[in-house]
Amino acid sequence: MTSKVNTAALPKVTLHEHIEGTVTPEMAAKLAQRHHVKLPDDFVMAEGQYDKNDFPNGRYAYDESDFGAFINTYDSVADMMRTPQDYYDVTKDYLSKNAAEGGVYAELILSPAHMAMEVNEKTGKSELSAPRYRAMMEAISKAAQEVKEETGLETRFIATGVRNMGAENVKQVAEFIRDNPHPLVTGFGIAGNERAGEFDDFADALGIAKAAGLKLALHAGEIRGPESIKDAIRLGASRIGHGVSAPQDPAVMKDLAEKNIMVEVCPTSNRILVTDLKGDLDNHPARVLYDAGIRISLNPDDAGIFGTQTGKEHRISAEKFNFTKAEMLDITLCAIENSFADVKTRKQVKENVYKQMTAEDRQELKDLASNAKNPILKQRLETRAAESEKVAKKLEIQQRRAKAISAMKATKMALLNRKSVSR
Ligand SMILES: [Zn+2]
Repeated sequence: MTSKVNTAALPKVTLHEHIEGTVTPEMAAKLAQRHHVKLPDDFVMAEGQYDKNDFPNGRYAYDESDFGAFINTYDSVADMMRTPQDYYDVTKDYLSKNAAEGGVYAELILSPAHMAMEVNEKTGKSELSAPRYRAMMEAISKAAQEVKEETGLETRFIATGVRNMGAENVKQVAEFIRDNPHPLVTGFGIAGNERAGEFDDFADALGIAKAAGLKLALHAGEIRGPESIKDAIRLGASRIGHGVSAPQDPAVMKDLAEKNIMVEVCPTSNRILVTDLKGDLDNHPARVLYDAGIRISLNPDDAGIFGTQTGKEHRISAEKFNFTKAEMLDITLCAIENSFADVKTRKQVKENVYKQMTAEDRQELKDLASNAKNPILKQRLETRAAESEKVAKKLEIQQRRAKAISAMKATKMALLNRKSVSR
């Protein structure tokens, strides 16, 4: 089914994307050359082996049904991200592409255990190095700042602990982030193999992050059942990464909706990695979550490795989950509201999205609101329609004022010209 929504023209927000996962095949080739790494001949598909329209940045060759092959590709790519220059190039490449397809706000997940590890010369042990982290962050923020100046795209970062590296390691990462604050690192997360340990094992780490003022985005309910989402909520998550299993427990669904906890939906990633979906997005609960009043956002997870981007995920979502234009706009506004940016930035980005709405969009929002069965969704859509109206009025006044000023200037100029002629 093809959607009628022109998703290419819509503003977009990305909240769930791992920096190492953004590396496109083209970028991987560049990094391999830089570090003299010989990638296997069958690492990426040759031109002609895939649809260039669907995979404009190239396509990795791993078999989508083979989880081990996916992980190997991911690890090989991540292993080539070694220097601040690598991080600068990868961030710049990803964010520029994100902005080019309508990105207005993006958050990237960073793993200090990958980017800031260094062998301590005295002890011979590998440990988190503050100078190395600072150098990496400087390179990453330089890229983000440049893209912001060029395109207006705002970016923030989420430091993440890797679950399968153990509770002690994740706690060390949390302490490290607390002791090395950065203005653009506004969130803390837990990623990695969901089957490794329980959320309670990570309670200390999460407590440290929260006390440091960081908001929590936790991977849960991707491979495991709704109990993992319940635990993540109990430990203070503002957002759930994936949350595919949420509909299995009505109480979890209710909690997510009532507490305004966002589910970061990653359609392509879920289709490939969540075995319960049997490789078919028709089995994905994105529509069910949305209709239950739960805030969702649409994300690539590992844009480069999956051969996707936020834009493609929006197109897929409109088609597969039948989201209308007004619903897509609501999803984007939810993503801004649930982002980890400061209040002022959130307000600004939101207003810019409202400014792009037409009278038709406002009408569609009102119609959606009146048809919505879920009271939380209904109220949110009513608020959207009202806020949109307010911004449109403000814009109209600004335009009228600008017109009046330019008319006044024109009259003044004409008068001055007449005076100089009569002299
Ligand atoms: Zn993820």
